[in-house]
Amino acid sequence: MFEIKPFWQNYIDGAWVDGGAGRIDVTDPATGNVIAQHALADAVDVDRAVMAARRVHLSGVLTDMRPIKRGRMVQAMGRFLKEHRERLAYLLSREQGKPIWESEIEIDGAALYFEYYGNQASTVEGRSIPLGSGYFDFTHYEPFGVSAQIIPWNYPLEMTARSLSAALATGNAVVIKTPEMTPLTNYIFAEAAEHVGFPKGTVNVLCGLGSDAGAALSAHPMVNQIVFTGSVPTGIAIASAAAKNVVPCVLELGGKSAAIVHSDADLEAFETDLRWGIYFNAGQVCSAMSRVIVHESRHAELIERAVKVASDLTVAPGETLKDMAQGMGSMVSHGQRDRALNMVKEAQDQGATLATGGSAPNNAGAFLNPTVMDVTPDMTIARDEVFGPVLSVMKFTQDDEAIKIANSTDYGLVSGVFTTDLDRANRAAQKLRAGQVFVNEWYAGGVETPFGGYGKSGYGREKGREALWNYVQTKNIAMKIGK
Ligand code: NAD
Repeated sequence: MFEIKPFWQNYIDGAWVDGGAGRIDVTDPATGNVIAQHALADAVDVDRAVMAARRVHLSGVLTDMRPIKRGRMVQAMGRFLKEHRERLAYLLSREQGKPIWESEIEIDGAALYFEYYGNQASTVEGRSIPLGSGYFDFTHYEPFGVSAQIIPWNYPLEMTARSLSAALATGNAVVIKTPEMTPLTNYIFAEAAEHVGFPKGTVNVLCGLGSDAGAALSAHPMVNQIVFTGSVPTGIAIASAAAKNVVPCVLELGGKSAAIVHSDADLEAFETDLRWGIYFNAGQVCSAMSRVIVHESRHAELIERAVKVASDLTVAPGETLKDMAQGMGSMVSHGQRDRALNMVKEAQDQGATLATGGSAPNNAGAFLNPTVMDVTPDMTIARDEVFGPVLSVMKFTQDDEAIKIANSTDYGLVSGVFTTDLDRANRAAQKLRAGQVFVNEWYAGGVETPFGGYGKSGYGREKGREALWNYVQTKNIAMKIGK
């Protein structure tokens, strides 16, 4: 148990400051109680942060530095996070609702990004292009300059770490707009940047309303690149603002990801995939396994196993849940919980069968009991993102039909296929319209593997070496040499 200070400031140009838009309450969703207030930035604060980052960029201090040195600083930021793991985990669970053990996983994951991209800093190499005698031509990569990063509330630490580490490794300065509901833990990135010696103005961290600070940041003419993780409507608003300044974006948006479970799949092992796939972070994961499309011969068994997985989970305040066996925390807010509950009710009205859950425990927290629904592909719940612990199970007869159902939403973030037949897995992997396909393990992959969506799930890729190219632009230098 740690004390939570009552008021938290923004970090602009190396100083902790109040916000021009006042303050916002931060609520513990497990109790509904306000645990702190955070400064709210306005457009003036945003401008100061962007101009500070621009000053750092134009000074050349980040680009003049040998990349291996910059990489070491990025790695040291990850170690700094780990040094504060216990306190951060407590804070994250209190502001977001997730169990302590999940917060620890998130912090370790965040630290891993700094380790991975710190390592990559010196590997961003250009190439030489033969032009015949008399010329020497080569490419090299330069940072965009000011990278604006707009963060969602479901993984505030990991999402920031993912883009911040890659942006710094490639020599950008950064302005982070933290989420209104979970802004507290992001303070660590300001402290880490200062601790490892990045000049003031390199990393700016501010909380503000999306419609105010978020909009001002995405429309700021001195921002050179934007990374956004969040919902589709906000992604469209940000990309539209960026387009007016001809600024590139990476959009990581929502999903309605499906696992296809064939008749030959190991359903006992699949219980673990269900546990992680839909009940991790109470289902508030963009790449959650929110749909299972199971062969009709195993449909009844799968529902039975899913109900068992769901009913075995205790739902309790995150700060009391120290290990995985203990269960699932609350959702991030009562608003999100009620939205999910309404979607369950609407599905029932459309003819879906509630196998378990679909209700809220009788307490003050934003809890939703782990839910399993038997649905058909035409229902709204089979297409729209719930962003909660709600599994939709459908059945199929022919392999092609399963792929058609899986591909039938506007999204395309991830998908999975569960079978012991390699040919069948390979065929599905080729045909599934998603940025990542898991075979026989949901969430297989890691910081090393590119992640991002098809369709309305967004564009650009985060994670892996592929993501580095989001943060740099190519310069070609063509030299006439000799006579
Ligand atoms: P959201 O779009 O409401 O908010 C995300 C961020 O955008 C917040 O910081 C918010 O303040 C800001 N914002 C809101 N309006 C803005 C505007 N007009 N201009 C600029 N910024 C604005 O999303 P959310 O509710 O926080 O997150 C849930 C959604 O995010 C889900 O749909 C989920 O699937 C998606 N998500 C995707 C990923 C991914 O990696 N693909 C990860 C996490 C969440």
